[in-house]
Amino acid sequence: MASSPTRTASGVRVRVPAKINLALKVGAPRADGYHPLATVYQAVSVYDEVHAAWANPDEFDVVVSGEGADLVPLDDTNLAVRAAKLLARTQAPNDSLGASLSIKKSIPVAGGLAGGSANGAAALLACAVLWDLDITADGMRALAAELGSDVPFALLGGTAVGSGRGEDVAPALARGTYHWVLAFGYHGLSTPAVYRRFDELSPNAAPPQVPADLMNALRSGDPRHLARALSNDLEPAALDLQPRLRTVLQTGLEYGALGALLSGSGPTCAFLVGDEPAAVDLSVSLSAEGVCRAVRRATGPVIGARVVN
Ligand code: ATP
Repeated sequence: MASSPTRTASGVRVRVPAKINLALKVGAPRADGYHPLATVYQAVSVYDEVHAAWANPDEFDVVVSGEGADLVPLDDTNLAVRAAKLLARTQAPNDSLGASLSIKKSIPVAGGLAGGSANGAAALLACAVLWDLDITADGMRALAAELGSDVPFALLGGTAVGSGRGEDVAPALARGTYHWVLAFGYHGLSTPAVYRRFDELSPNAAPPQVPADLMNALRSGDPRHLARALSNDLEPAALDLQPRLRTVLQTGLEYGALGALLSGSGPTCAFLVGDEPAAVDLSVSLSAEGVCRAVRRATGPVIGARVVN
């Protein structure tokens, strides 16, 4: 773990960022049903917070507030609860630990920004610190991978290459800070539904590889170069399920974005611009056009899940 433990009587608070995929290359499903991925993640400055406090032995509960809170499950399927239980079961099976979790959401639910995964990563870190567990960074990564494909990256942050089903992450050589405008959709998109449509549209998908031009662009630090290298294999499937997203992407480009792509399985559209003033201009234009539910400016890369005071 990269953060220093700061345990307080009032619990532990962790801030965790959303991710976008600068490239998302998808292969045909493996024997276990998962799709092989070659992806480049970037953590961006839209954050959820997860607070963990002591609870009665073996008791776990969660409350959720903020953006899309009513769409988040409060039972054992909540990724933060799953994370806390997994940590307790594997790291302290004889201690009857419990946790009271509170999630403050800014990352839209089912937006292709891995908000649920981010909450899982944050709960792992918050509970490990709360319970003062002796767990290595490798141990945390293994539990994160068990929880979900995007969870290890939420712990790591920055810009990273993801392989396997996305859970195998390695930091990428990247220079500079990039300015993004994120357009949130009116309705979420189900990740499994997008992958199903992808399989129908691309029955012979080739083994995925991270595009060399994207890695070169990241090394250059030049947003114009990066804009030309953005790609997402899931875009045709997501646009097929929500055709209005095509208008959102086109509108952003018409108003001066250097590049545009769907984030993960969508429906969030991410626009790359050259600097902060350009981000402000584009946000105003997209809001005025009314093509999306909400617009947020963000920068990336930012660090992954961290304890905050
Ligand atoms: P994925 O990570 O599968 O690509 P996504 O980024 O599009 O998904 P998420 O915000 O992670 O979207 O939500 C996907 C689903 O996960 C939600 O519909 C919700 O039912 C479930 N979920 C479970 N736990 C959480 C959580 N803590 N926050 C948000 N969603 C959660």
